[in-house]
Amino acid sequence: MKEKVQALWAKKPLIISGPCSAETEEQMIETAKRLAATGKVNMLRAGIWKPRTRPGMFEGVGVKGLPWLAQAKKITGLPTTVEVATAKQVEDALSFDVDVLWVGARTTVNPFSVQEIADALKGVDIPVLVKNPINPDLELWLGGIERIQKAGVQKVGMIHRGFSSYGNTEFRNAPMWHLAIEMKRRNPDMLMICDPSHICGRRDILQAISQEAINLDYDGLMIESHITPNEAWSDAKQQITPEVLAEMLNKIEWRKEDVNSEEYHAALEKLRQQINHLDDELMQIISQRMKVAEQIGAYKKENNITILQTNRWNEILEKAFNKANTLGLSKEFMTKYYDAVHMESITHQNKIMEK
Ligand code: PEP
Ligand code: MN
Repeated sequence: MKEKVQALWAKKPLIISGPCSAETEEQMIETAKRLAATGKVNMLRAGIWKPRTRPGMFEGVGVKGLPWLAQAKKITGLPTTVEVATAKQVEDALSFDVDVLWVGARTTVNPFSVQEIADALKGVDIPVLVKNPINPDLELWLGGIERIQKAGVQKVGMIHRGFSSYGNTEFRNAPMWHLAIEMKRRNPDMLMICDPSHICGRRDILQAISQEAINLDYDGLMIESHITPNEAWSDAKQQITPEVLAEMLNKIEWRKEDVNSEEYHAALEKLRQQINHLDDELMQIISQRMKVAEQIGAYKKENNITILQTNRWNEILEKAFNKANTLGLSKEFMTKYYDAVHMESITHQNKIMEK
């Protein structure tokens, strides 16, 4: 089984599926059998210990679920993975031959907990997947990975499951793709998979989010599945049957990172040159804009005027949004762009004022 798991690390896509929580032996085995029958899943997941937001919610079946998972592996030949949050859970999972461990989002936020897991893994050769922390903090995610690596674990991977925010949004956990992209940039050789189930929190957008991850060259997906999703003891709204999962995976356009075609590379190279030129020009123009802002700063200083002029700023934004619309640029992007330009401009003006 060890070689089988090693091979999964090297060959895309890694598709992990199974229930949010193991509930009963029948549920676990039936889900596993039906997942295996799809021929598209290469690892089984199940939550044994569940970190729930409120006490009194179903907190997982505990150790008694581990033999069910071992049985599911025996029947299907699929390796297994569970979430661990304490040294004792690591020990229990290892004693039942779980093949891969994952660190949950609520654990990655806590360096004490991750260190406890790392210490329990010293000298143990088992792959570990580290979910992003619930808050959008890359350093914390990196720190979690480093702690596990320092324990001597060779195969570490990342799971992007989105970041929590307050209030009702389209997502249960906002994907904030740019953070995951930055993590991939910093760890180019590390496995990165997406967990659309916990990003979406609902079924209807699972497909779109999965496709988005594959478009971004992720190595695989972890998707929750259940034989009777609506009756699931946890995360009922986001789970799908193994058969629906298979349909979904069928519809995904699996993209490759590269192709052996001179024509494609030549065309891409030309367009990339254009992008490079445009980026260069943009930078020059932004630099000019800052120089003008500095001149304004000097006048404001002379006349003892505040840097921030709210009316003027609103006027600029309104104009920009109208124009952006006709240019095919989103309001969301323009907001971020103007925020960044405005802040940089204020920094330049502050420097002038301090002189
Ligand atoms: C889970 O995978 O069921 C889970 C609890 O996920 P997360 O740690 O992303 O909340
Ligand atoms: Mn879940």
